[in-house]
Amino acid sequence: MLAEIGKDISKARELLQRGLAVAIPTETVYGLAANALDPNAVLQIFEIKNRPQFDPLIVHGASRERLSNYVTAFPDWAVKLADALWPGPLTLVLPKAKSIPDLVTSGMDTVAIRVPNHPMTLDLLSQLDFPLAAPSANPFGYVSPTSAKHVMMQLGEKIPYILDGGECAVGVESTIVGEVEGRVIVLRLGGVSVEEVEALIGKVEVLTESLPNAVIPGSLTSHYAPRTPLVVGPIEFDKYKRSLIGALRFSVESEKLHPSQQVVLSRAGDLREAAKNLFAAMRQLDRQGAKVIFAEEFPEEGLGRAINDRLRRAATQ
Ligand code: AMP
Ligand code: MG
Repeated sequence: MLAEIGKDISKARELLQRGLAVAIPTETVYGLAANALDPNAVLQIFEIKNRPQFDPLIVHGASRERLSNYVTAFPDWAVKLADALWPGPLTLVLPKAKSIPDLVTSGMDTVAIRVPNHPMTLDLLSQLDFPLAAPSANPFGYVSPTSAKHVMMQLGEKIPYILDGGECAVGVESTIVGEVEGRVIVLRLGGVSVEEVEALIGKVEVLTESLPNAVIPGSLTSHYAPRTPLVVGPIEFDKYKRSLIGALRFSVESEKLHPSQQVVLSRAGDLREAAKNLFAAMRQLDRQGAKVIFAEEFPEEGLGRAINDRLRRAATQ
């Protein structure tokens, strides 16, 4: 049975209330959602995605007030960020309440929470009396889906319903901020820039790939990857036949390759637009049969940092 794609919020609600997993739109990427308070429902997410259980899930709620029920503390820095940036692409890691099953947090004593900024999903969340655990709606390790069609192509045979909310407006995952030994740290770069975070709460540290996975389980270096090998940096024309090269570009094509071998993420040179188009572009290049994809390095500022992070992860295979 193939999933149904539709805009029926009550249908999604009923399936979720029955303990099933449903794909939902958010402004970052599409999520595979289930009742976060029901371990059996959450288990289905792992099964459908083939996701290792050490990778904890983000819990989505309709508002800060509702999500407050699932944490035991909401420190000042977190209140400031939530007030300014929710609903939005920001996830906070806070001490978890008992009602959140260990399966959701991989046994950790913290839980990741977020209010997503998508009208249909906010409506759905406000109709439910439980929050939704939802990782990206793709098989583990592959590029995240930014449209209902992407979800259909990869998980269509495994889920009953895909709530279609159009294309994701942000297109990269949320920025995750947490506190480790009293220091506020950006645990994952994403849809909110480090500059925006710092403007609200002052200087923060940014966890880089070199730091241990213990702090943020599941932030595997190889992630978000297309099947075609991807290299970040200038195109190595001397190493490959030109016809076998695909190129992911920021704002202009390389003159040395045919335009059909390349995807430009933002002609206007806008990092937000580039982030929004990133995953769909990886998919497109993956389908073109190139032997190698060269991705241009993006400016290390604003959402450029999150884009570079995803590209580097996609490159480590
Ligand atoms: P996503 O892939 O967007 O569903 O995000 C899930 C990611 O959030 C996980 O892979 C972890 O890296 C991170 N995460 C979730 N819960 C926690 C937590 N309690 N502490 C630290 N990181 C977490
Ligand atoms: Mg994911």
